[in-house]
Amino acid sequence: MSKVYNFAAGPSMLPEEVMKEVQAEFLNYNGMGASVIEISHRSKEYMAIAEAASSDLRDLMNIPDNYKILFMHGGGRGVFANLPMNLAKREGSADYLVTGAWSGYAADEAKKYTNVNFIKGDFLNDSGRVAVHTKDLPLNKDSAYVHLCMNETIHGIEIYDTPDTGDVPLIADISSCILSRRMDVSKFGMLYGGAQKNIGPSGITIVIVREDLIGHAQPDTPAIWDYKVTADHDSMLNTPNTFAWYFAGKVFKWLKRIGGVEAMEAMNKEKSELLYGYIDSSDFYTNNVDPAFRSRMNVPFFLKDTSLDQQFIAEAKENNLISLKGHRVLGGMRASIYNAMPLEGVKALVAFMEKFAAAHK
Ligand SMILES: *Cc1c(COP(=O)(O)O)cnc(C)c1O
Repeated sequence: MSKVYNFAAGPSMLPEEVMKEVQAEFLNYNGMGASVIEISHRSKEYMAIAEAASSDLRDLMNIPDNYKILFMHGGGRGVFANLPMNLAKREGSADYLVTGAWSGYAADEAKKYTNVNFIKGDFLNDSGRVAVHTKDLPLNKDSAYVHLCMNETIHGIEIYDTPDTGDVPLIADISSCILSRRMDVSKFGMLYGGAQKNIGPSGITIVIVREDLIGHAQPDTPAIWDYKVTADHDSMLNTPNTFAWYFAGKVFKWLKRIGGVEAMEAMNKEKSELLYGYIDSSDFYTNNVDPAFRSRMNVPFFLKDTSLDQQFIAEAKENNLISLKGHRVLGGMRASIYNAMPLEGVKALVAFMEKFAAAHK
């Protein structure tokens, strides 16, 4: 079968090299005669896997010592709830910068556990393109934190220049951009994301949280979602998703082998510039995001003639380019080009787009 490039938004492509490694040792982990998914999470062998994953992530993201790395349940959506439970008071408040679908979902969920100040972040600039306010935001100095979504997976909006929130901790959902570029963790109170975009299989959630922010959870917070309890039990109060954690650890090692986050960032720039460059040069396709806020991970684009959408998707599939249909919220197309998408995949997409445009002039 010839190579298929999968542009799904999540779960999404994972490094083939890692999948082959996992496949090769699946039935017999490290000579134990048992699969990694059959051994106890408290065994010496598994503990070594879990600890290596955590310390490799710390190295890759340069996470300072005063931050805990938690491996949790519930995905990004779970954090939408357990973040206010852990960091805000019911009678207190939190600020939410809303720049697209995901930051809006996070704010709506948080309303159940605290008072939410919605701050509208996206706007149309003078050229009619979507941009984001990151300066002079109407923040509330009494809020427990300011939340933003660093990469809006559906709208293809990424915030590179994070707002200065003074003493109020800044919290970012990095579900769809974690490990895609360098980030200064020390500027944040907390960063979090589900694993199924840049890290591994779904079913595990990474929370990177500054130590002084934990230990103040609302009293009815479930134990498995209490950051302090989770930290005190090395993320093993109950049985974690052992397979996803193990797989994530292999992806971290792969990233280290290929040069770490800095090298990955350069590749992601190259891939996204190629695709946006082509879209901008064509009068057949459009993308409406201000270049300063364009996501390097998720590239929504539209055919000017939307009556060709179905045909575009069908022919792309015949050309081994799958999952290009846009999210139902926006319509059109979306190419998710996460870390594991090779440059060749983006080149193949651009070549197909050129061919399709030429055939429909
Ligand atoms: C995918 C995604 C989520 C939701 O993740 P789940 O793990 O499915 O709950 C949250 N935020 C962003 C930015 C996402 O891309």
